[in-house]
Amino acid sequence: MGGIDPRSLIFVAGLLSLVCALILLVMRRSFPASIAGLREWGWGNLVIFCATPLFGLREALPPLVSVVLANALLIGGEFLLLDALMRISGRRFPWRAGGAVFATLMAGIAWFTYMQPSYPLRLMTVTAFNTVFFALGARISWGVPKGGDAARFMAGSFLFASTTCLARFVSLFLDGGPTSLLDAGLIQQIYVAGYTLSVFLLTIGFILLANHRLRRLLEFQASHDALTGAFSRGAFLDMVGKEIERARRHGHPLSLLMLDLDHFKSVNDRYGHLVGDRVLTEFARRVDGQLRRPDVFGRYGGEEFAILLPETLLADALHVAERIRTAIAAESAPGLPPCTVSIGLAQWHAGWDTDGLLAEADAALYQAKRGGRNRVLAVAAGEGAGTAGTAHLPLRG
Ligand code: GH3
Ligand code: MG
Ligand code: MG
Repeated sequence: MGGIDPRSLIFVAGLLSLVCALILLVMRRSFPASIAGLREWGWGNLVIFCATPLFGLREALPPLVSVVLANALLIGGEFLLLDALMRISGRRFPWRAGGAVFATLMAGIAWFTYMQPSYPLRLMTVTAFNTVFFALGARISWGVPKGGDAARFMAGSFLFASTTCLARFVSLFLDGGPTSLLDAGLIQQIYVAGYTLSVFLLTIGFILLANHRLRRLLEFQASHDALTGAFSRGAFLDMVGKEIERARRHGHPLSLLMLDLDHFKSVNDRYGHLVGDRVLTEFARRVDGQLRRPDVFGRYGGEEFAILLPETLLADALHVAERIRTAIAAESAPGLPPCTVSIGLAQWHAGWDTDGLLAEADAALYQAKRGGRNRVLAVAAGEGAGTAGTAHLPLRG
């Protein structure tokens, strides 16, 4: 039978795994630790690489090394790949169940090596396992949260690997199978090449997935405040501008709240900045819990926050503001000092740009502070942006 010598294919498989391992381990050094799984994927490839010379030297090495150990490394490497995939999805590989499956599979391989030596039966055992294992990988990849096209690419690569193993499994029934890994016909060559290609495609998929995650993380960091997770000032102002445009086009109402924690300086002075930071974080978490999906919550600066409420009339915005004020004043989080918040709000008026809307809400906030703090004050649309004599509507005094 002509074609590629199986040893050459195994050599290429080893080389690809080694290169993939090095790429992943180098990537891991520069990626943030929150993108998990890069190290495990790198190690998985390294372990698979270690298996390849053992397979390639099957005729020269004893079966314990070239069959049992080689398969243990190959399958162990595959487990590491699945572990990596689960880690990047924020999940944990069930090593206890995995260990039991691994032990059963190795017992089967050992049986068909020593008790009832048969390469086709061994191959059948491994391909049957890999068909299910890679199908599971496809299922997990498909479900990777916010994985985008990279997750779909991975799922496709896993399906390709699973189909390759299934085809080899079925073909063993049809042609009886080869007598050894290295004494292979065309179908065996296609199987080894298909397996090698799938491991390589999977690594490309994993790199795409890790890059996708990195891009999302950087985008998040660029637009969000690191302490509270609220939108940063710049991103918030961009969104206000966009929502004003939308409100102008569609004639929808739009309201904006400015929030400022009361006497926050004294929290820092009395309890220290670390406690102050925790108060801010807890405040943001609670406010966020009071909002709807389209609402935009931003940290305007220091202990000042702002909330944009699209398609919301002043009367409804007042309810939101009062709900927030009450929730904050009602009780403090365990271990944190009590705090209150003053809120100024305004409904967008057709003539106002971002600055005009912010100025009105800010003027209302100023009045809320002057009125004694821990209160909500509003200015209705059309009452004049920043003009003298603006009529404020105190909700709570
Ligand atoms: P008022 O009721 O008038 O708003 O009084 P205030 O004390 O809250 O206002 P002031 O503007 O005097 O003080 C704001 C304080 O917020 C001062 C600053 O140290 C603190 N602050 C701003 N950003 C942070 C932060 O990120 N962490 C902590 N811990 N404190 C911050
Ligand atoms: Mg303050
Ligand atoms: Mg302030």
